[in-house]
Amino acid sequence: MEIEINGKNFTVNPHQSIVENKKGKPYKDMSDLAITRDEEKCIGCGICRTACLENNGLGIPVQTEVEGCLYFRPDGKMDFKDSKCTRCGQCILACPTGCLAEKEDIEPVKSAISDESKIVIAQIAPSLRVSLGDSFGKEPDEILEGQMISALKKLGFKYVFDVNLGADFTTYEEAYDLKERIENNKTPMFTSCCPSRVKFIEDFHPELMESLTTVRSPQECLAVVTKTYFAQKLNLDPKNIVVVSIMPCIAKKFESRRSGEDASGQWDVDFVLTTREFIKMVKAANIDLPNLESEKFDAPLGEASGAGAIYGASGGVMESAVRTLASLYNQDLDKIEYEEFRGMEGIKKATLNIDGKQIKIAVTAGLKNAEKIIEEIENGEVYHYIEVMACPGGCVGGGGQPKPATKETINKRREALYKIDAGKIIRKAHENPIIKEVYDNLFKCPGGEIAKKYLHVDYDKTPTRECEISNDAK
Ligand code: SF4
Ligand code: SF4
Ligand code: SF4
Repeated sequence: MEIEINGKNFTVNPHQSIVENKKGKPYKDMSDLAITRDEEKCIGCGICRTACLENNGLGIPVQTEVEGCLYFRPDGKMDFKDSKCTRCGQCILACPTGCLAEKEDIEPVKSAISDESKIVIAQIAPSLRVSLGDSFGKEPDEILEGQMISALKKLGFKYVFDVNLGADFTTYEEAYDLKERIENNKTPMFTSCCPSRVKFIEDFHPELMESLTTVRSPQECLAVVTKTYFAQKLNLDPKNIVVVSIMPCIAKKFESRRSGEDASGQWDVDFVLTTREFIKMVKAANIDLPNLESEKFDAPLGEASGAGAIYGASGGVMESAVRTLASLYNQDLDKIEYEEFRGMEGIKKATLNIDGKQIKIAVTAGLKNAEKIIEEIENGEVYHYIEVMACPGGCVGGGGQPKPATKETINKRREALYKIDAGKIIRKAHENPIIKEVYDNLFKCPGGEIAKKYLHVDYDKTPTRECEISNDAK
């Protein structure tokens, strides 16, 4: 059996003791909020370690011998929660037996839906709508946005909102953060919407913590707007709102329980389901997703710019931010599409002239490529703005996506996101009328006191909270 990792094929070789059907003392790790590991299913092949090395250069799964059997344990420890794993989930995508898997949240979500006192709201990541096709007999790049919304309504979600709008909030705040840092010589600035990368910097490069923008990720920005602005508008008690993110990502489960991700007074995101969990729910309910009538996202948190759509692709965060940054300097853009940030390469570089300043940019996908840029900085290279996404191709290649995740499939999903952007009338985050409405009525101005309270988190002062198994809202 062969497994494709980052476009390369690797042969799965079960360990001899497993072939002989010996089992050692298999251990089941259910302690982590994001990843589970069931050694009963492990064949000791080490593909998980290969995936971690190929993508991240980390090699977190370490060969561990137990009574003649080989397992691959995180940092050689029993539990993921005690390791320096970034929760990117690339090892889960590669593991051929399901020994490694996401910690499922399907049952608590179903319980919330059946509780009549709760208003359960789904919010959908940019890459979801282009990642469902091949699981339902369609082309991998088929855009199934409207059918996905219909399926969520059939599953019992009261409202369906668009995390592309959350990405517009992130972009607006992040462009201001970058402008301030450029003017105060506090660059480089790293994007922070990928929680796997935040964990990587915390554990492996704590000296760079101040370089992370404090702006919250799109799922957290949209959730806090839901539990404040939307709740006030409809006169709802935020304690009765349950926000369920549907994400291509494992690390977003981890992010949702970090210190500071509770600006509304309770966890802003209550549960995170991966793309795979969503597909499992749809199939279990016998919903024929691709043939459903198309529906639209609910108002008012369903309208997003094209800039929000491309967040799911490596380089998309950078392109979105640059479109807004140039406007902050009142600079007319000679273009809106930045080919230099697009593509499947692990490292992309560009220098842009903004307001007479030469802004040096690096875009990386896969943490091992981020490490190369960090080495360049240590050797004196100057960068102003650095995008880091942990997964190959960005979130379209996320650890929560359908298996198998070949490079060709990931690339098709990526191209479909750019098609969505190209088809939008509004393609800059700050021109989104919903952004204007929420700032006028609640946040007032980007980077201001209220915006900082709800849309920023101080990573330096709020290190990772010990993972809690309970998913109950606070
Ligand atoms: S966890 Fe999965 S990939 Fe890793 S050694 Fe076991 S079976 Fe192989
Ligand atoms: S989740 Fe990512 S960082 Fe953690 S072991 Fe797997 S590949 Fe490595
Ligand atoms: S690149 Fe996207 S999917 Fe992968 S860990 Fe980061 S946020 Fe999650």
